[in-house]
Amino acid sequence: RPGQRWTMRIATLSGSERIIFLSDRSAIDAADRMRSDFVANASHELRTPLAAILGYVETLQDMNGEADAPMRHRFLSIIEREARRMQQLVIDLLSISRVEADRFRRPTRPVNLAAIVKTTIAQLQDSEAARPKDIVARLGRSAQPILGDEAQLGQLAHNIISNAMKYGRPGTPVTVELAREGQRVRLSVSDEGEGIAPDHLPRLTERFYRVDEARSRSVGGTGLGLAIVKHISERHQGQLDIESELGKGTKVSVTFPLAADG
Ligand code: ADP
Repeated sequence: RPGQRWTMRIATLSGSERIIFLSDRSAIDAADRMRSDFVANASHELRTPLAAILGYVETLQDMNGEADAPMRHRFLSIIEREARRMQQLVIDLLSISRVEADRFRRPTRPVNLAAIVKTTIAQLQDSEAARPKDIVARLGRSAQPILGDEAQLGQLAHNIISNAMKYGRPGTPVTVELAREGQRVRLSVSDEGEGIAPDHLPRLTERFYRVDEARSRSVGGTGLGLAIVKHISERHQGQLDIESELGKGTKVSVTFPLAADG
């Protein structure tokens, strides 16, 4: 391939026997590039709210107590919002690095996906961030287990359902379903939001990829949610599918293999 680079190492076994190791440098270079792009993106994402916080703090200090109460209140609310944005970003960055570190450790514990999804829905309905929107849950009665990590599966469900709540149209329901398909179980989350244009679909699970950056920021998104979902799904041998129709809505689903003897 053009631009491909190889590194060669030769080891002598005995006498005339040699082993030649060839490693594809271009693959290593690509991984290095991805890592440094990630660090650059993460730094940029942290720098933006940090600059806003420092700007508003300095303005308040310069005003030397002359800012009236409504102005102080407005500035403090902005500082709080930006600090929370940084906090969420740090939480998501830690999650993604933990999930990546666990990548090759297959989960061995049988867990009840329906119970995990139920708890996640209850948490989302309680959270302040939840908009007044119905979550219609059809989780069935089957407690057929999958092999999984309870905390990570909760996070996967949280990220997908909270996206449907964030990007759904106000007042329309979000539907969460669990359905058995042969030896697999499908978790699907549908919303009636504005949908996603087809050319964006393949890139949604890239870190920091957003269709509409301003929209994502205004609903408190970090651009890492679906990247985390993809990693968790892969660790559980899941298959992630995103279907969407502009103007109609989006359906995100993950199918997991059921624990053996199901
Ligand atoms: P974010 O934190 O920005 O929500 P995600 O990784 O969870 O990041 O999602 C990436 C992007 O995919 C979002 O910024 C949004 O543009 C789009 N997206 C995700 N879920 C939906 C959905 N249910 N409806 C419309 N767009 C969505």
